[in-house]
Amino acid sequence: DRAEAWTAVEDYLTVTLVGEDQAQVSARESADREGLPAIEVSAPQGKLLMLLAKLTGARKVLEIGTLGGYSTIWLARGVSDGGEVVSCEYEPHHAEVARRNLEAAGVADKVSIRVGAALETLPSLAAGNDGPFDLVFIDADKENNRNYVEWALRLTRPGSLIVVDNVVRSGQVLAEGGDGSTVDRDIRGTRDALALLGSDERLDATAIQTVGGKGWDGFALALVK
Ligand code: SAM
Repeated sequence: DRAEAWTAVEDYLTVTLVGEDQAQVSARESADREGLPAIEVSAPQGKLLMLLAKLTGARKVLEIGTLGGYSTIWLARGVSDGGEVVSCEYEPHHAEVARRNLEAAGVADKVSIRVGAALETLPSLAAGNDGPFDLVFIDADKENNRNYVEWALRLTRPGSLIVVDNVVRSGQVLAEGGDGSTVDRDIRGTRDALALLGSDERLDATAIQTVGGKGWDGFALALVK
């Protein structure tokens, strides 16, 4: 069936192009053993994050949603020398698993995980002058996606890139209640974020749909003008 074909092609592309290394495979496996949900980015998307970090010459990357650190490893490998990734994670156990995975991947010295609700961490990053970030990857609780884009705008500079994950969700992004309202809080958050990406004068955005082992989804990219 189609889902099997998507997965087979993704596996083929991963083997042919992506070059996921043992530390990355182990990061996924250890997250699984530790009971974390398998909701990390796919290997090709992780590689894309690394390439985007390289393309933008990113020295400072902000990630919202660490999980077991799989995407964090890709981002850390994409930052230029002396660069760093700040990654926000709510669950202490996720952060602990991620720290071990980052250590094993040899990138722990480039990453700082901030444990807590991102909406509390982000103001402290702004107050502490931690920005501006060159690349922001938003991949946490989707109901706050619009808030995260607003914080990303405060924490970036013209030329920065903002990436928002899971903006399609098997087409649920269009799901509406009988009165035209969006039923699901996560979908509402994502639609509000997309509306902001599309309407804010400071942003130039697009979104790409994807298929693969994780089904049908997509991500948005926005350049800060
Ligand atoms: N970026 C990761 C990757 O691709 O490997 C996947 C992140 S996962 C989709 C979302 C993560 O966001 C989870 O680990 C979850 O605990 C975390 N999260 C949920 N709510 C959060 C919040 N309010 N602040 C920070 N992190 C949160």
